[in-house]
Amino acid sequence: MTELLLGQVLHFTADPFEQGLTAACLDEALVIEGGRIIAVGPADALRRQHPQARVTDYGRALISAGFVDAHVHYPQTAIIASWGKRLIDWLNSYTFPEEMRFSNLRYAQAVANRYFDLTVSNGTTSVCSYCTIHPESVDAFFTAAATRNQRVWAGKTCMDRNAPEGLRDTPQSAYDDSKALLGKWHAQGRASYVITPRFSPTSTPEQLHALGTLWREHPDCLMQTHLSEQTDEIAWVKDLFPQSRDYLDTYEAQGLLREGAIYGHAIHLTPREKARLKEAGASLIHCPTSNTFIGSGLFDMGGLKAAGQRIGLATDTGGGSSFSMLRTMAAAYEVGQLAGRALHPAELWWLATQGSARALHADHQIGNIAPGMEADLVVVDLASTAAIEQATRRAADIWQALFPTIMMGDDRAIRATWVAGACVHGQQIGA
Ligand SMILES: [Zn+2]
Repeated sequence: MTELLLGQVLHFTADPFEQGLTAACLDEALVIEGGRIIAVGPADALRRQHPQARVTDYGRALISAGFVDAHVHYPQTAIIASWGKRLIDWLNSYTFPEEMRFSNLRYAQAVANRYFDLTVSNGTTSVCSYCTIHPESVDAFFTAAATRNQRVWAGKTCMDRNAPEGLRDTPQSAYDDSKALLGKWHAQGRASYVITPRFSPTSTPEQLHALGTLWREHPDCLMQTHLSEQTDEIAWVKDLFPQSRDYLDTYEAQGLLREGAIYGHAIHLTPREKARLKEAGASLIHCPTSNTFIGSGLFDMGGLKAAGQRIGLATDTGGGSSFSMLRTMAAAYEVGQLAGRALHPAELWWLATQGSARALHADHQIGNIAPGMEADLVVVDLASTAAIEQATRRAADIWQALFPTIMMGDDRAIRATWVAGACVHGQQIGA
């Protein structure tokens, strides 16, 4: 079945941080065949060229690449919006007790399915998730994603110290379990396995080394972990690794820094760390709702982008306070304002789609609308509430029309979500 979608089709030809608004384009229609986008352009011409196509007319709604959430913890779905802790207390009070439950495959399956239902209804088509220490949690995640045919990344979270009994593995079992799960899930359909030490405070140098060895043996995998989220965390790392030059060095020394490394947060970086991250081609993932919710600090988007760092955007659920990438863009705007750089709507939208896809080394597959790309799409109603509708009435261009939805929109703005060329949520209307 060939599908022709009509609407305001937003896509990018470059990074708007580098090229400004010329990087963004608006078209009228796109054509999908075999799960991929085959054409983008004027409505009349595409209707003529594809007379057999089934037409869905979304009117004035925006059609974009689906959102790509580059750092999440799906096992924390049920503890989102828990009150009043900073990072280490948060882990001990909320995260670890909840993660214990994922040794039970049925529980893990129930949460994984709920997580995908919530994110798809928010227009998110791809995520990169931490699981728990239990292989069951990884199986549950990838099985739920495969059922939905979604492009996803995930890995078993490894911890061999400073975590409760029942949530600790060892250097050897972390290596063995990760290797087995990688063999089972990596490059199966749209799934990719990610080697996943939680962070240096919960891994011994021996465990980090074992995972560095595994990464060297499987260089096409990504590796994800956390870096410099809070100042007391950084002080703790200094105590735990007295030989290391800085936080990044605890990973670098064990073979966990190169292109394909994905570091969540990266707020309080030293000049040496910034230089090495850039040189290595690593990815930094900005998690603004989490950074304000847990009180971590202000990510320097302006400075880091100007320096040429590879940056994606993410919710960090459940440390982040929303499943919505719209809410996450709004928080990125607010953090940017506090840090002295007002991000343009085009920059915010790019970060939530192509920026995150690029951070995950998948921008040739997802995160944009262009011939050859996988047809993962979100259709956004730009007048989803009375408050938003009245604010957009006098909009002179697409960015003025879009910004109130970025700042005030939620899942009510998501008119439809398409995954691999199929409408999986919301409306598909004939025309
Ligand atoms: Zn995280």
